[in-house]
Amino acid sequence: MMMRILRRLSLCQLLALTLCISPLLHGQAASSQPKLSVHWEELTASDFREGIQRSQGVCLLPFGILEKHGPHLPLGTDLLDVRYAALHAADREYAIVFPEYYFGQIAEAKHEPGTVAYSRSLQLALLQETTDEMARNGCKKILIVNGHGGNEHLLPYFAQSQLDKPHDYVVYVFDERSPQHGGPAKKTKIDMHAGESETSKMMISRPDLVHTDRATSESGADQARQKLPEGVYTGIWWYTRFPNHYSGDGSAATKELGEYQMNWWVDSVVNAIKAVKADDVSLKMQNEFYEKSAHPLDTQP
Ligand SMILES: [Zn+2]
Repeated sequence: MMMRILRRLSLCQLLALTLCISPLLHGQAASSQPKLSVHWEELTASDFREGIQRSQGVCLLPFGILEKHGPHLPLGTDLLDVRYAALHAADREYAIVFPEYYFGQIAEAKHEPGTVAYSRSLQLALLQETTDEMARNGCKKILIVNGHGGNEHLLPYFAQSQLDKPHDYVVYVFDERSPQHGGPAKKTKIDMHAGESETSKMMISRPDLVHTDRATSESGADQARQKLPEGVYTGIWWYTRFPNHYSGDGSAATKELGEYQMNWWVDSVVNAIKAVKADDVSLKMQNEFYEKSAHPLDTQP
């Protein structure tokens, strides 16, 4: 009984906290408020408090990686690109952006120089402690902006695992980097890693680090060595197809395509921030779920 009351109390406290951060203060672009950095590490402690209010508790965690990107792009391509997109988006729709984070899933590139691949237990533990710490500092809505394809299973799994025990914050994952249609016509069909799209985007975020002249010095062709029906998954699938950790042809990249795709990415993150700010359902439902899941036999269909 005591536990039930305590649970209720903490639920009320959580709701009160949500109400505290919900008064709608609009993004700085649309207001006359003094400019506030979107970089977590650039804010003073008291500016940070103001930033949390202004962002309505929305913080971004741009997620990169350190891995080979063909023969012509830097190891930090995903980190540099995702931060470019997230920082520009937060400038337009205010949110606090967490510093450089690149502790994701990249076991499949351990055979290439410069790859930093943490163990799976550390990936999950570090991500949990990072979001817990963000939330303890007022980030009650954490939008992970994924910049790395190899995280495509890790991040939804992490978000799902937030249901295992009560949290007073919501984890959102945004995992799109390129538009499906529109823009300058693409010249290549295979374009999954360090190819036409990614090289084009780097021409916008860090053109000084793109070595287009080296892009054809290795093959990014699909070697199609694994013969398995679609729907049968292995961890080695990527290596069987793209052993050079290169998929596509970076020499096909253009600044025009990069501009189109990067603008699309920034716009998409802006829309995601707005949607997360407007979302008043997820935390409420999470709290209801945590409360019910503590005593499933009492819940009614
Ligand atoms: Zn990449």
